[in-house]
Amino acid sequence: MFGPDPLSRSLAKASRRIGPVILMYHSIQGGRAVPKWLWSVAFNRFLDQIDLLRDAGWQFRRVSDLTGEDASDRCSLAITFDDGYRDNDPAFLALERRGIPATWFVVSTNVGRPAAWSDDTTTGWPMLDAGRLREMAQAGMEIGGHSRHHCRLAELPADRLPDEIRGCRLELEEILDRPVTSFAYPYGSYNQAVVEAVRDAGYRVACTTQYGPALADGDPLRMRRLAVYSHDTLSSFARKIGLMRNEATWGRVFEHLAATMLTQRR
Ligand SMILES: [Zn+2]
Repeated sequence: MFGPDPLSRSLAKASRRIGPVILMYHSIQGGRAVPKWLWSVAFNRFLDQIDLLRDAGWQFRRVSDLTGEDASDRCSLAITFDDGYRDNDPAFLALERRGIPATWFVVSTNVGRPAAWSDDTTTGWPMLDAGRLREMAQAGMEIGGHSRHHCRLAELPADRLPDEIRGCRLELEEILDRPVTSFAYPYGSYNQAVVEAVRDAGYRVACTTQYGPALADGDPLRMRRLAVYSHDTLSSFARKIGLMRNEATWGRVFEHLAATMLTQRR
């Protein structure tokens, strides 16, 4: 893997002024090939991305630690994994070895069972089991909720929300024997009723799939994330951190630099 170009690298460093930031991963696949699924990242690329963040001076935190006393710490970055795929195992071990915490958002009825939601690509994929989730929690990783059945929550009737949201927390707490306080909306699907159901269920923080600095909306139950894609190179990865956008093309970089220069001249 080639390193990032110098401009992209310095953007990833400069953006520490506008954190905290949350990264969203799903599947992590072995081998060097670029995975076919947009939401799978090759393991080697994942490691390069983590090393780049560390070199750029980002401080790693769990999602639920972003809103406490560290909220003002703009160098904070949380790594999140949605769904709980078993292929995340090497990523967990690599993070544990480096002493880096991360957060996994798990579909509670699919723990240790093949993915069962109707998402053509991943149906049948193996998921992390209860024993592994417990080990991860003991190793300092955070396990959060991702609903019981991976539903589009904004499309559900209101009377089904407590079962999907609170029920998920109860099932995970039963597995982990510790409090579960963070949540991620499956498919990024939420509305006011869903946010209130998440709050009523006892979660303190929740992640959307909108891009930008985590606390851009000032609401810990609507935290933004940056999506990492299968095709991201180390340079495009560095640029998305630098610009706080999922798509950080060179055109966007030049707009960003021009805007920064204009602000400084005023
Ligand atoms: Zn999901």
